[in-house]
Amino acid sequence: MGDIRLYERILALINKQEEWRGHCLNMIASENITSPAVRKALASDFGHRYAEGLLGGRDEEGFQIFQRFYQGTKFYDQIEAIAMKSAEELFGADHANLVPISGAVANLTAYFALAEYGDTITGLSIQCGGHISHTHISAAGIRGLKDFPYPFNYEEMNIDVDKAKKLILEKKPKLMLFGGSLFLFPHPVKELKEIADEIDAYIVYDAAHVAGLIAGKQFQDPFSEGADVITSSTHKTFPGPQGGMVLCKNYLAEKIDRAAFPGLMSNHHLHHVVGFAISAEEMKKFGRDYAKQMIKNSKALAQALYERGFNVLCEEKGFTESHQVVVDVSNLGGGKEIAELFEQANIIVNKNLLPWDSLERTANPSGIRIGVPEVTRYGMRESEMTEIAELMAKLALNKEDAENIKNYVIELKDGFQEVKFCF
Ligand SMILES: *Cc1c(COP(=O)(O)O)cnc(C)c1O
Repeated sequence: MGDIRLYERILALINKQEEWRGHCLNMIASENITSPAVRKALASDFGHRYAEGLLGGRDEEGFQIFQRFYQGTKFYDQIEAIAMKSAEELFGADHANLVPISGAVANLTAYFALAEYGDTITGLSIQCGGHISHTHISAAGIRGLKDFPYPFNYEEMNIDVDKAKKLILEKKPKLMLFGGSLFLFPHPVKELKEIADEIDAYIVYDAAHVAGLIAGKQFQDPFSEGADVITSSTHKTFPGPQGGMVLCKNYLAEKIDRAAFPGLMSNHHLHHVVGFAISAEEMKKFGRDYAKQMIKNSKALAQALYERGFNVLCEEKGFTESHQVVVDVSNLGGGKEIAELFEQANIIVNKNLLPWDSLERTANPSGIRIGVPEVTRYGMRESEMTEIAELMAKLALNKEDAENIKNYVIELKDGFQEVKFCF
């Protein structure tokens, strides 16, 4: 039986969420805020529709032609074709497939297309920043892939190239994965390209976190460094709706398309593709400025936290080249404690395993990961990063009252209510 009280409670919780999160500094590195136009797309009629189908070549302007199984898709088809072309342009890809409904599913699509049961893959371990979908406990396991982690250099916070070469020669992976969720510096794709060719491995670059930086031309360019495939989410540094995509070279286009449909997906959540199409146009116009500001902000935040006494990783390397700042808070009670403390003051971050943590520390790992995508989209710059670092120091180092700090957070956020870098 429908319960009107629960219905009303759900509506009230939506309002509470919007009211509360509107007064928070959201610094989850994997989250972002979409523009009003993207939000409109997400609530549009496209969210009710199906457009299952196969790809049927391109027209003379290079737009995709679709062979759909249902009627009613004539407007949607035009939008998906535009979105594909824009994604190809932004990432320097020959072909884009926008069917995967999330980043993890994008990875599964690549595994389905390019590997067989029992094949081996190399990637980062979870502690060193690999995503669960790179490992046997998630998508790679579903495809029956055996995963071997790259040796990792803690000081560099990066893959150890020489040791990785040995591992690759020994394990002969079918796929070599790059990219991760704890991701401060570009990965050695070009350094390991030759060995990939030598053993006939595909390079799959998981850009879930850094897609907005790549599209804004402020991070490594995976295809020019030798990647065969880019898998990604569409909602982390890339400011689209939650979703996924696979970008590839021409010689893999058909395999990827068939793995996506009919291989893995039926409905591909058309409203997400429509929202993505809008965000791709925003990125074509504003992406460089947005990505540049993100990196300036993360560096400024890291420096300011460091100066106040936080143990920010990689000081000698300038802390970060991405949208993330990673802090070892093991001396302050651990990541769980600090993330919860920050939440009391409306600063939202996540606790994070650091490379030297064992998986048993997942509940209270050594680190916190701080991301600047959303505050950057709201127009904050270096001076606001210093203010935020000051508030974090008052909370975690000076043990000032969280309720009191919360008022400062609300006041700071009040000046930044409008999404920038959009039309
Ligand atoms: C977030 C993430 C994913 C998964 O993306 P979802 O859209 O959450 O499914 C995959 N790979 C990496 C590296 C990620 O950080």
